[in-house]
Amino acid sequence: MTVLEGGCMCGGVRYRTEAKPLRSVYCHCSQCRKWNGAPAIVGAQIDRSGFTITGTPATYRSSASAQRQFCPTCGGSLFYLSDETPDLISFMVATLDDPELVPPTAHIFAADGLSWSRIDDNLPKHRAWLDTEEI
Ligand SMILES: [Zn+2]
Ligand SMILES: [Zn+2]
Repeated sequence: MTVLEGGCMCGGVRYRTEAKPLRSVYCHCSQCRKWNGAPAIVGAQIDRSGFTITGTPATYRSSASAQRQFCPTCGGSLFYLSDETPDLISFMVATLDDPELVPPTAHIFAADGLSWSRIDDNLPKHRAWLDTEEI
C-alpha cells in the first residue's frame, strides 16, 4: 500500500492518506494560475475519508462552488474543495514529499493555457473539464 504524505513549505500543514487518487491532472485555468503564481498546477482528486490533515489551513472561497485551502504561515497552496463533490478533496501534487508517485495523466482547461507555457507531453489536452473535447 502506498502512503501519500505531503505538506506546505514550512511544514505547518501536513496531510496523509493511504487511498489511491482517482485522477491527477494539469489545470491551466486562470484561477489556478492566480492561486499558485504559476502557469499551471497539477492537482490529484482523492477520497476525503481517510485523508488526514494536521495543522489548520486557511480557506478562501474562490468561486460560487469551490474553496481553496493554503498554509496561513508560508502561503503554500494545498487543497481544492468543490461543493459539488463533498466526499472528495484535491491536493496539489507538487506538495507531496514524493511528487513522482502521482504523475498527471491529462491537461484540463488547456484552452486557457499561456502561449509561452508549453508542455510537450503526449497527454490528452481537454478544452475545459475532463469531459470536454480534446484540443
Ligand atoms: Zn506552511
Ligand atoms: Zn484550475
